[in-house]
Amino acid sequence: MDFNYSASQQKWIDRLSRFFDASVTPAKGHFDDRQDADAPWPWASPPILAELQDKAKAEGLWNLFLPPAALAHAANNFAFDTPRLTNLEYAPLAELMGRYEFSSRIFNCSPPDTGNMELLLRYGSPEQQERWLTPLMNGAIRSAFLMTEPGVASSDATNIETSIERDGDYYVINGRKWWSTGVGDANCEVLIVMGKTDPDAPTHRQQSQILVPIDTPGVKIERMLDVFGFEDQPAGHGEVILRNVRVPAENLILGEGRGFEIAQGRLGPGRIHHCMRTIGAAEQALELMSRRLSSRKAFGKMLAERSIWQERLAWARTEIDMARLITLRTAQLLDENDAKDVRADISKIKLAAPRAALNVIDNAIQAFGGAGVCNDHGLARLYAKTRTMRLVDGPDEVHARVIARAELKAYRQAN
Ligand SMILES: Cc1cc2nc3c(=O)[nH]c(=O)nc-3n(C[C@H](O)[C@H](O)[C@H](O)COP(=O)(O)OP(=O)(O)OC[C@H]3O[C@@H](n4cnc5c(N)ncnc54)[C@H](O)[C@@H]3O)c2cc1C
Repeated sequence: MDFNYSASQQKWIDRLSRFFDASVTPAKGHFDDRQDADAPWPWASPPILAELQDKAKAEGLWNLFLPPAALAHAANNFAFDTPRLTNLEYAPLAELMGRYEFSSRIFNCSPPDTGNMELLLRYGSPEQQERWLTPLMNGAIRSAFLMTEPGVASSDATNIETSIERDGDYYVINGRKWWSTGVGDANCEVLIVMGKTDPDAPTHRQQSQILVPIDTPGVKIERMLDVFGFEDQPAGHGEVILRNVRVPAENLILGEGRGFEIAQGRLGPGRIHHCMRTIGAAEQALELMSRRLSSRKAFGKMLAERSIWQERLAWARTEIDMARLITLRTAQLLDENDAKDVRADISKIKLAAPRAALNVIDNAIQAFGGAGVCNDHGLARLYAKTRTMRLVDGPDEVHARVIARAELKAYRQAN
């Protein structure tokens, strides 16, 4: 058990840190808010993004998220640009990206595209990889994953009601989705839609996943959703109606009834990425809090000298370090095992990291007083974003259920 970063991890951390200092941090202002607040979606990216992406590509900092286990599934003729980092090597890089939420796009490492690319690598046909994976991995287009529905409790995916019906050489899709991240981006070209191909099949064989070009007739983005009043750019989340959407039968991924299997494989690495970025957000908040406490005086003393603030700082550092260690351990487990065999470990970090980060950000807001709850220092937005992590990719309760079941099973086996 070695708790130090390996030489390879450290090399990548140093490379990415240098890139952040030279190119990302100075560009932050371009990503803060839309230049034209009245412009309707779809939202165009700031022009500097393409420039930074070219730079990142040239420095080999591109598609860092794809582990060798996923790449092993690529069709033979598929050419890609990636350094083949393991989940464990990528994890500290995702943490760095979490410090500025916009930054993962610069390295083609942002959700939901990362999960969708891994999905297409693992389960897409050679034709689907050629048509959609190649432009995604080149950063030429973006994508969205449409599972959640407003009409049903979607944390239990067996409830999903969208229908995908076979009609000759086509499938016809009808349903209403929401929280479809990415559909507000002007570059979003393809949707992966989950729905039922056979409502009479055994529960976990009813669902399938299918590729839908966003410009297919019948796809309508009805509205964009805010997150605590923020637009949650750059990706944006939409409510999408699918009305008699007709796509060729070869757009189905893997086969009818395989939707659950695909969903399971998609979410493992994505959750590690979310957790590591969340830890990066917590580090950002801790840094802001330390700076503030070291520069404000109240009732004759610097805030940093008060024991209550020292205790809050101590817990912030402790909780961040605990969350990081457990997440790195899970990254290693995922490198060595199938995602379904380490489900409970993935659920543990999904519970631990957002809670730790929210505690830190909440205290940072307190340290800033009134300035903490407006967005002058970015804390209101950081809190809003991080709070969604207790819902995204399954709410806390569902992850707790996974852990509790594993625990009870182990107890019963031992007694
Ligand atoms: C910012 C953001 C981005 C998202 N991006 C996407 C996306 O790109 N694609 C997509 O398909 N979805 C996306 N989602 C949706 C997200 O995955 C769902 O919101 C989440 O899975 C919960 O489903 P639900 O909203 O239907 O809540 P429901 O299923 O209605 O659950 C509501 C609440 O019930 C409670 N609950 C549920 N199950 C249990 C249980 N077993 N025991 C006790 N309590 C329980 C929990 O408190 C839960 O929060 C996103 C959500 C957010 C907020």
